[in-house]
Parts: sequence; C-alpha cells; structure tokens
Amino acid sequence: MNKEFQEYMQKELVELKESGNFNSIRTLESPQGAWVEIEGKEKLNFSSNNYLGLANHSELSKAAQKAIDEFGVGPGAVRTIAGTMSLHDDLEEKLANFKKVESTLTFQSGFNANLAVIPAIMSKGDVIVSDELNHASIIDGCRLSKAEIKVYKHGDMESLREVLSGIDANRILIATDGVFSMDGDIAPLPEIVKLAKEYNAMVLVDDAHGEGVLGSHGRGIVDHFELHGEVDIEVGTFSKAFGTVGGCIAGSEILIDYLKQKARPFLFSSAVTPADIAATIAAVELLEKDDNLVQQLWNNAQFFQDSMKDLGFDVGKTETPITPVMIGDAGEARKFSDRLFEEGIFAQALGFPTVPRGKARIRVMISATHEKDDLEFAIDKFKKIGKELEII
Ligand code: PMP
Repeated sequence: MNKEFQEYMQKELVELKESGNFNSIRTLESPQGAWVEIEGKEKLNFSSNNYLGLANHSELSKAAQKAIDEFGVGPGAVRTIAGTMSLHDDLEEKLANFKKVESTLTFQSGFNANLAVIPAIMSKGDVIVSDELNHASIIDGCRLSKAEIKVYKHGDMESLREVLSGIDANRILIATDGVFSMDGDIAPLPEIVKLAKEYNAMVLVDDAHGEGVLGSHGRGIVDHFELHGEVDIEVGTFSKAFGTVGGCIAGSEILIDYLKQKARPFLFSSAVTPADIAATIAAVELLEKDDNLVQQLWNNAQFFQDSMKDLGFDVGKTETPITPVMIGDAGEARKFSDRLFEEGIFAQALGFPTVPRGKARIRVMISATHEKDDLEFAIDKFKKIGKELEII
C-alpha cells in the first residue's frame, strides 16, 4: 500500500473523529440481552436489534446445539454444489407458512438478500424507483443491477407518482424499507401497492425491522396491512427480532425457483450455518405459538416513548419500537451517548452518513426483555443528562 494512500486514510479517520462521526465499537463480555457486560460493568442495552430477546433465548440455543450435534458447524459449500441440508428446506417451508407466501429462500444475511434479488430481477433497460431513505443494502443491490435508479421523496406518494409517471421502461420495481431503521416510521405500503398496480410496477419491501414486530404474531408489514399476495418481494433478516443471523426472500414459487438459478449470493456464497438455521426455526415456532413477546415489546415501547415525550424529548415520527432521541449536532449526540454510558446505559449516537447531517440522534432500541424498572432507570438518566446538556 503506498504512503499517500495511508496518509489519506489517516486524514479521513482524524476527520471522522473530529466531526463526531467516528464509529467506536464496544466489546461485549456477555450475550446480547436487556443488560450486557462491557468493560466489566453491567450496562442497560439499548443498542441491539434483539427486539424479542431471542438472541439469547434458551429454546434457540438448545435448537442450535442439537443442530451442531446432528449436522456439524458448516454447510460445506454453496447449496447448488454441496447440496442443501434438510434444515434449510425446513426453515424455508416454515417461513413460507409464517409469512403466508408460496415460497422463501434463505441467504447469508439480509444485506445479501437485497444484493441477491435486485440484480437478479432488474437489469439494463429497467427502472428501480427507490425511497430516498432506503437501507444501504437496497441501494447497493440497485447499483449492482445496472438498472436505472430513480429516487422518490421519503414516504411521499405524490413524489412516487411523479417519478412513476415519467418512466418508459421494460420493467419497473418500487423498492422500500418496511420500517425505516433510523426513524422508526412505517412505509405507506397500501398506497405503494396501489400505485404499483396503476403503473404496472413490481414492489419490493425490506421488512428487516417489521418481522417479529409488526402484524399478527410478528408476521411483518404485509400482514400488518393485510396485503397478502399483493407484494411481489419481501426481504427479511434473521438478525433482528429472530435473534440469529441470515436473510430471506419471500414471494412466489416462480420467483424463488428463478433466484435459485440466478441470484449470485445464492450461487457463489455458502449457506447459513446449521446452528443459525435451526435457531431461526425455533424462533419462528416460538412466534407461531404465542405473541406475548411481541405484545410486551409494544407495551415497553409505548411506555418509554410516552415518558420521553412527557420530559420534552423529540422522538421524531416513530411508529414502532425504534426510538430516535433527536439531538441534532453529531458531537452533542456523541457526548450524550458517552454520558449515558457513564451512567450505565449503552445507547449509540448515530450521525452522518448513517443519518443526514444535523440530524444526529441517540437511537434507543427497545426490547421485550426490558423490565419496567429498566425503562424507568433509563428515563431518569435521560432526564438528568438531557438537562445537563440543555437538550430539554
Ligand atoms: N435491511 C434493513 C432495512 C436493515 O436495517 C438491515 C440491518 N441493518 C439489513 C437489511 C441487513 O440485515 P443483515 O444484518 O441481516 O445483513
């Protein structure tokens, strides 16, 4: 590596630190849970996407251990070469029933699922119409596809119509996050589906933050809006409410058959490990059995968000358990997060490029496993630091 490039990287890193946008990574000495151990101390955990507490759930751990005993630790290779383990087939069938779709296909992550499906179905001569706040994996999937990309204003159906009305293309795909991970708002999917029909477009919704959270028993955004059969492609991840690692595409049988032949991350990257697949099966079974955890998640979110608003904090326009506590300046947000950490709370400050400049925030990720006492402890600390830093 040449000296100039090393100097360039050094300068970039210094700049990130000075602007408050440097990502420092905490080391956990415990499993993900309502509380985690960091630097030898217990911290209330507001940073993980472990919405239902399944990342450290005994049923999932047991299922993973059993799968390791029966199938070992590795998948061998890509499924088209090394064969597919029956576990993967089982999960795909279970997910299809859970999501009420014809078929599903698992991937190594949600990120990979977007990189897989979008370039497989869209190419030169096609147009992708994408919400301006879509997740990086949708954006990268679009870029890989070689289709033309047009962006509409966030959640704005007038803007979407305007973009759609000017398109002359072979195929059109409207792509949107289901729940926007930085703000917690929900995409207006019924209106998107309506416009898609009008303009003969397909719809892709990335339900990473809706699975296990929205809809009956956490079936996701399509269930929440009762749009079964009307959304062409659902992208999912196992890394959030399901508590494991992996991704998924849900849709028609023909789409899944096509992806098995065409999607590059399926053809050229090994399958998810048996342990993750088995634990994800256990997660889906748990959700099918009862929705207590989902209800608890929503109760916790309601209590926390109401209390924060009462204190005078701005929690943006969230409609889900994702709670952005708006600060504005990235340096201030970082300071707030550091003070929270000193007071026993692990809650990340998010700044540019994760969120727009000037819209830095502390993102509080509520979990079903937080006790009322935990939330009250946090509200007290937010109040103390909010006053200290003159945010409230
Ligand atoms: N899509 C969205 C909307 C996400 O928020 C995320 C995770 N940040 C992903 C995809 C990627 O999921 P995974 O962690 O499984 O790669």
